[in-house]
Amino acid sequence: MSKSELQCSFCGKKKNQTSLLIAGIDAHICDMCIEQANGIILQESQSRSESISKKSNNELLKPQQIKLFLDDYIIGQDYTKKVISVSVYNHYKRLNQEVENDVEIEKSNIIMVGQTGTGKTLIAKTIAKMLDVPLAIVDATVLTEAGYVGEDVEGILTKLLQSANYDVKKAEKGIVFIDEIDKIARKSDNPSITRDVSGEGVQQALLKLLEGTTVNVPPKGGRKHPDQKFIEINTEKILFIAGGAFDGIERNISRRLNLNVIGYKSSGKDSVSKQSILKYINPKDLKEFGLIPEIIGRLPVVTYMNPLNKNALLNILTEPKNALIKQYEKLFLMDGIVLDFKKDALTYIVDKAIDYKLGARGLRSICEEILNDAMFNLPGSDIKKLVVSKKYVTQQLSRISVEKLKAAS
Ligand code: ADP
Repeated sequence: MSKSELQCSFCGKKKNQTSLLIAGIDAHICDMCIEQANGIILQESQSRSESISKKSNNELLKPQQIKLFLDDYIIGQDYTKKVISVSVYNHYKRLNQEVENDVEIEKSNIIMVGQTGTGKTLIAKTIAKMLDVPLAIVDATVLTEAGYVGEDVEGILTKLLQSANYDVKKAEKGIVFIDEIDKIARKSDNPSITRDVSGEGVQQALLKLLEGTTVNVPPKGGRKHPDQKFIEINTEKILFIAGGAFDGIERNISRRLNLNVIGYKSSGKDSVSKQSILKYINPKDLKEFGLIPEIIGRLPVVTYMNPLNKNALLNILTEPKNALIKQYEKLFLMDGIVLDFKKDALTYIVDKAIDYKLGARGLRSICEEILNDAMFNLPGSDIKKLVVSKKYVTQQLSRISVEKLKAAS
């Protein structure tokens, strides 16, 4: 075959009808066929990955299995774990829904009310780990309305995008945990509110995200990089979980229920302890506390966290899959040292966390102080076992101040 007669073996075009004809062993292919083939490859691989993700969605854990997963990491909080298991399950069913009739499952964003250090962030983290989706943890107190000093609400999505390694599709299926949402409540008669004026504006700004919209997100965040190109993110499929202590909300609940809460003066009939009243919380109480109705409407699943008692704190030290004591045991074992925590030492640590009002978060700082000397001295020494008794713990803790522990918690 002469050069001028060469043709594409796929479409039959002559060499002079193509811009490029590439020779193979026994055949030729033109630029247009290459382009077409490339398109087919892309389409194929996309539908393959869609079917894989459909499959994994179909195989989504059932609510009871989600709860079992949470049980491995979170002590107590059974009610919340159950509620969250159901709403996460429904959320991902919603993502899979085929919109064939008018029934559209609405988003099940969640709000968790409970003291700090009771496991709210841990639940959000554990859910994200379980689903293998990106997670952004943000503190509502640093958010401001656009134009004020602080972080813009869009910055939340910057964090999510970063956590998704800038994969927009992944980010759009991620989880955002907004901590301290109570601090942007608008009531000024609430003692915990420090920045009442901007409260409602920030809530309005947050609302945009919760409603499901397309937001222009600065990939590097902030206003420090004015030249950066925005990335569009649709928030419709993002699961928002909000948390807050809502200090004093027990008063609102008891007023509504006309109950007399032990510890508060009220003229109600029945008595109920301050701790147990939280289980009666409902959206009305959040509204009275100062969240705007539109925000409450977008956080339809309201749940509460129980304060952690001594027993729960003891369990937190030893029971979860990545319990603190298990982590220290592993750290020491890596140096060939057996760590033996005695029961009375564990009880003493928990007592101190309660005495100093450090809660679960304080357990780590207390353990760090107790073990720091040993972690410094023992690696490389002949000592192959460390027994941590109450006596040892007392000795180690006698040298440090409560303030230091509080600061580290
Ligand atoms: P919150 O978000 O409610 O302020 P966190 O989830 O940040 O509290 O809890 C702080 C730390 O305390 C966690 O990282 C975890 O080590 C421990 N912790 C708190 N609550 C629990 C719990 N219910 N089960 C296991 N660990 C907990």
